[in-house]
Amino acid sequence: MARYRWWSAEVPESVKKPCRTLLHRFAEAGSSEYYGFTFNPYKGCAHRCVYCYATYEWTPEFYDKVIVKSNAPDVLSADLARLGRRAVEEVFMASATDCYQPLEGRYGITRRCVEILQRLGIPYTIITKSSTIIRDLELHARYGERCTIVWSLTTIDARVKRLIEPNTPHPESILYAIRLFRRRGVRVGVNIDPIIPGVTDEPEMLEKLVEAIAGAGADYVSAGVLKLRDDIWDRLRGLLESGGMLEAIAKIRQLYFTKPIRQAYYYLPDQEYTRAVLHFVERLVRSRGMLYGFPDMEEHQPCYARASELYSEGSAKKPAQVVLTVFY
Ligand code: SF4
Repeated sequence: MARYRWWSAEVPESVKKPCRTLLHRFAEAGSSEYYGFTFNPYKGCAHRCVYCYATYEWTPEFYDKVIVKSNAPDVLSADLARLGRRAVEEVFMASATDCYQPLEGRYGITRRCVEILQRLGIPYTIITKSSTIIRDLELHARYGERCTIVWSLTTIDARVKRLIEPNTPHPESILYAIRLFRRRGVRVGVNIDPIIPGVTDEPEMLEKLVEAIAGAGADYVSAGVLKLRDDIWDRLRGLLESGGMLEAIAKIRQLYFTKPIRQAYYYLPDQEYTRAVLHFVERLVRSRGMLYGFPDMEEHQPCYARASELYSEGSAKKPAQVVLTVFY
């Protein structure tokens, strides 16, 4: 078994803890260009995906203890007020957790933060693996084109999904949620990321997935191939070994470690493999009349946030910039 214990049948402990700041600027990896803001209402995630990038480094508590940032809505208001007269192009929720993980059903922190963004007219994009977001269907729908919801859906094979993302909803629940949001006119995307070599990359699997996404009515589909980090590889290898999926292990070894390509802490797969898989997905997507790519955040008009009304010269302070390396 892997050194990094990641699976557990226990429900994670939840701990309420106030935060001091919430909002961060972010840029895409390799770019210093300002790209918007992000925040995380929770720290840690109950979904327990084996490949999770958001652990950044191996922190066992990430899956076992979820910090509920109980004062997040107040801190968000204060952070936005500090931005003063600067434009807020976009807020992205969330870069390092799932803001609609099961605990959101109990605490409603994300909902209260969304209400604040809406009061200020700020556009936002949410990425989630959850169907808990259905609770807030009307809230998002009333915001029209200033809101985009992206589901992260890696496979519609329920058995495989249960293995790699054990606490996420059944794929049919996600497709149902997509259908509901689309019917209410919300701009909807699906991110097929990560595609895991030897596990979710079979052409037939991808074709069924894209077909199901098209059937649910999504506007956009984006995709990405797994990036490995030492801790991610240990968790994934442990899972594959325990499931006897030795061919997948061999394929991953061959793609990532024969001629290793490094990007910061990550190993990237053989680039020809990546190009071929992504090109295949792109063709599937386009041939079904959907747009290929992550919904363009720039399509949202910047909002010179009414936060400027709250502006106070004395408290003007730039939020820290973080580099968003992944859309999980
Ligand atoms: S990949 Fe996303 S949904 Fe899965 S455990 Fe990590 S933060 Fe949660």
